[in-house]
Amino acid sequence: MSQYGINTISVQGGYNPGNGESRNVPIVQSTTFKYETSEAMGRLFDLEESGYFYTRLANPTTDAVARRICEMEGGVGAMLTGSGQAANFAAVFNICEAGDHFIASSAIYGGTFNLFGWTMKKMGIECTMVDPDISYEELCTKFKPNTKCVFGETISNPSLVVFDFEKFAKAAHEHGVPLIVDNTFATPVNCRPFEHGCDIVTHSTTKYIDGHGVCVGGVIVDSGNFDWDKYSDKFPMLTTPDESYHGLVYTKAFGKAAYITKCTTHIMRDLGITQSPQHAFYLNMSLESLPLRMQKHCENAQKVAEWLENNPKVAWVRYPGLKGDKYHELAEKYLPNGTCGVISFGMKGGRDASAEVMNHLNFICIVTHVADARTCVLHPASHTHRQLSEQQLMEAGVLPELIRLSVGLENPEDIIADLEQAIDKVNC
Ligand SMILES: *Cc1c(COP(=O)(O)O)cnc(C)c1O
Repeated sequence: MSQYGINTISVQGGYNPGNGESRNVPIVQSTTFKYETSEAMGRLFDLEESGYFYTRLANPTTDAVARRICEMEGGVGAMLTGSGQAANFAAVFNICEAGDHFIASSAIYGGTFNLFGWTMKKMGIECTMVDPDISYEELCTKFKPNTKCVFGETISNPSLVVFDFEKFAKAAHEHGVPLIVDNTFATPVNCRPFEHGCDIVTHSTTKYIDGHGVCVGGVIVDSGNFDWDKYSDKFPMLTTPDESYHGLVYTKAFGKAAYITKCTTHIMRDLGITQSPQHAFYLNMSLESLPLRMQKHCENAQKVAEWLENNPKVAWVRYPGLKGDKYHELAEKYLPNGTCGVISFGMKGGRDASAEVMNHLNFICIVTHVADARTCVLHPASHTHRQLSEQQLMEAGVLPELIRLSVGLENPEDIIADLEQAIDKVNC
């Protein structure tokens, strides 16, 4: 479907029913699949033939939805996961083993920061976090012989830093490693990272792709562009025999889809971080309105950000769509059609005033979520980033007074009125 535009793919992609078959992607609510002969099933286990045998590895519903997202991103293959955390873990763990190292921008989601900084460290995988504004020359000094990938977020949650694809992709490729980008906030509607040198894309589909706050989920998409064979010494897991599949070599057997095939047949097989067919079905329905919703989220957020910027009690507003924003130029370059619906701002009265504004809101609710149809707020320093030290908060671009405002699909004048009455109640 790659010849089509994003709106067409979002409703038509991934599934092409035959004569008399279900128009919608059916929910194949089955853990297992039947075969006529023992040999036929054996061939599937050896990856000699493709087919379904157990839903932990693959299922027709989840596959169809993964294909649709894959087509929207312009990749060669995709795998749905049970959460965004699982997607980011699997994306890195697929090519990093104990003793390996990788580099990540420090402007990333708090959960990813914990995963990379603590949990993966305990597994023997070391992550160096770098300032997103680091110079190219300094970034190059962070690579080690055992560095296996570079990671960043297109628009960081919640600090709203726009990723400098050119700088990070150049450094990664110069050092023979792939660039992995979490594209959750931008979605493939506003940014297609593969067009900017990224090799692997991940999403927490829990956010805009779902967009209604109903399902936790994730996805990994492979561009097929990284030349694993060229850097075979770094990626033996893809270019030398896998003993758990009788000596199969992924790059030989699957070519451009080597990385994503290994991710499914090895990581998904062993870790079981699968998404259920029912959840994939919901996700598929949400994908159909994603382009329309993203446009509206961005329009509303632009209006709200401009209003906040002119409020005398507001100390600062960060939204890459604002002309004066530090990342406006990068947003114009990589996200010309809009960024996302998330704004961050701080009150002049500091941490306490920000917390008080949140308590006075009416329909705008305090929820641990972003990027769904209903406008909501969160105080990262007290909630999602609670585990981080003051120093780490600063590195992640999360000031103590930062309110993360996720602008929904309500009438913008109603969102502004709710913020106005809450801000009016705070003395600062
Ligand atoms: C929420 C989020 C995640 C984690 O996703 P879950 O679906 O909550 O596991 C990862 N990356 C980003 C950018 C996120 O916003």
